[in-house]
Amino acid sequence: MNKLSIYNTLTRKKEVFEPLNPPHVGLYVCGPTVYGDPHLGHARPAITFDLLFRYLKHLGYKVRYVRNITDVGHLENDADEGEDKIAKKARLEELEPMEVVQYYTDRYHAAMRRLNVLPPSIEPRASGHIIEQIELVKKILANGFAYERNGSIYFDVVKYNKQHSYGILSGRNIEEMIANTRELEGQDEKQNPFDFALWKKAAPEHIMRWLSPWGEGFPGWHLECSVMSTKYLGEPFDIHGGGMDLLFPHHECEIAQSVAANGKQAVRYWMHNNMITINGQKMGKSLGNFITLEELFNGKHALLEQAYSPMTIRFFILQAQYRSTLDFSNEALQAAEKGLSRLMAANRMLDRIKPADSSSVQVEQLKEKVYEALNDDLNSALAIAVLFDWVRLINLLAEDKESITANNLVELKTFFRTIIFDVLGMADEQTTGSKQAELTAKLIEMLLSMRLEAKQRKDFATSDRIRDELSKLGVIVRDRKDGFDWEIE
Ligand code: ZN
Repeated sequence: MNKLSIYNTLTRKKEVFEPLNPPHVGLYVCGPTVYGDPHLGHARPAITFDLLFRYLKHLGYKVRYVRNITDVGHLENDADEGEDKIAKKARLEELEPMEVVQYYTDRYHAAMRRLNVLPPSIEPRASGHIIEQIELVKKILANGFAYERNGSIYFDVVKYNKQHSYGILSGRNIEEMIANTRELEGQDEKQNPFDFALWKKAAPEHIMRWLSPWGEGFPGWHLECSVMSTKYLGEPFDIHGGGMDLLFPHHECEIAQSVAANGKQAVRYWMHNNMITINGQKMGKSLGNFITLEELFNGKHALLEQAYSPMTIRFFILQAQYRSTLDFSNEALQAAEKGLSRLMAANRMLDRIKPADSSSVQVEQLKEKVYEALNDDLNSALAIAVLFDWVRLINLLAEDKESITANNLVELKTFFRTIIFDVLGMADEQTTGSKQAELTAKLIEMLLSMRLEAKQRKDFATSDRIRDELSKLGVIVRDRKDGFDWEIE
C-alpha cells in the first residue's frame, strides 16, 4: 500500500506525510467563533478534518486532535477594530458573553453530532488561555517584534519581514499589501496599517477584559491558535488545518507569531479546505443566501426546495475532494441524496449475497483503488466513485450474476463497511436511531430478501404481492437498474 500524501499549503506541493513521532500525530484545526448558529460554512472544515482524523486513525496512528472554540478576541470584520463578535451578540441579547458562548457551543456540538463529526480529543477555549497568551506577547515584545501604543500591543510586520518572511504561507508580499491597504480611521495607533494586534486595550464599555502588564484588555484573534496548538501538541507539531478563508491573515499571523517568539515555525504541514459557494455565489448574510445547518435539516429557507438530512449534507461534501470548490444547489444536493440512498441500499444488499465456490470479482482491487484515492491527498471524491463501481457489482452478486467465495464475501463486507461507516463517517439514516427503527428496517429487509428470492425463481406473483403490501403500509420499493431501494413515506 502506498503512503498518505497531503498537499502542504506552505510548500505548495503534495508531500508524503511523515509524522514527527510516529505513531503519534498532532492535529490542530481552527474551530468556530461561537456567536451564531452553525451554518453550511462550518460543515466543510469540520467534515474535511473529521475525514482526516478518521483516516489517520484507520491507518493506525494515535491522533491527538485539538479543535478550539473562539470565545474572545475575534472582532467584527476580522480586523483589529470594531466590537468583539461575542460581546456584540451579548449586548444585543442582554446576556452575559459566556451565556452566548455556551449556547452556541452547544448548538455547534449538536449539529456536529448529527453530521457524524467525531468530537476532537481536546477542545480548548481562548478565554481559558489568557495567561499563556500574555506570556507569548511578552516573548514577542522581548524579541523586539512588537510595540506598545496606549495599552495595546501590535506586531511589527515590517521589522519582522526584514529578518523573516511575512507572506510565506499566502504568497503575499508587503509592497503589494501597502499598495492595497487603505488607511482606516482609528488605525493611527499602528505604525503600519497591516500590523496586527497581539493585545488590545479594553475601552471602558468593553465587557470581556483581563489584567495584563499593559493594563486591562483582551488578546488579539490570531494569538489563541498559536498558544493552544503548541500547548497541547508541542512544538513543532504535525498538521494545522482550517478553511482557506483563514489562510490570510489568520494563519499567516500565527506563523509570524511563532517565528517571532521562538525563531522557528511551529507547524510542519498546513492544510486548507476550499469554500462552499451557493449557486455560484459566496455565502453572506447580506446576499440572503446564508443558510444555517438547522435550516438545511428542516428545509425551512427560501432557497431550499426540501429538507436535506445530515448524512445527505455530509455525503455531498465528501463527494468533492476538499481542495476543490463545491457549489451548493438543490440539484446537487438531490443528486447526493439519491447517490447516498443507492450506496446504503448496496450495503444492505451485501447481506443477501450467497457465497459461491469461486469469485468472478476482485475484492483486492477494490481495496487498492480506495486506498490509492484516499492516500492521494484524501481524494474522497475518487474513493466514492470506486465504491459506486462496486454498488453495481454488489447488486449483480445478489442476483447471482457474478460470484464470490465465502472468504472474499467476508472481506468485501468488512472493507466496504469500514470505509463507508468508519472512514467516511456515513450512517444509514433509514436503519439507525431508535430500537423500533432498527427492527422495522430489519423486517422490511427480510421481506425484500424473500421478494428477491421469489423473483429469482420467477414467482412474480409473490414478488409483486410483497411490493404491493409494503406499499399499502407506506414503504416505497423502487426497482433500479442496479438493484432496488426502499424508503418509508
Ligand atoms: Zn485559528
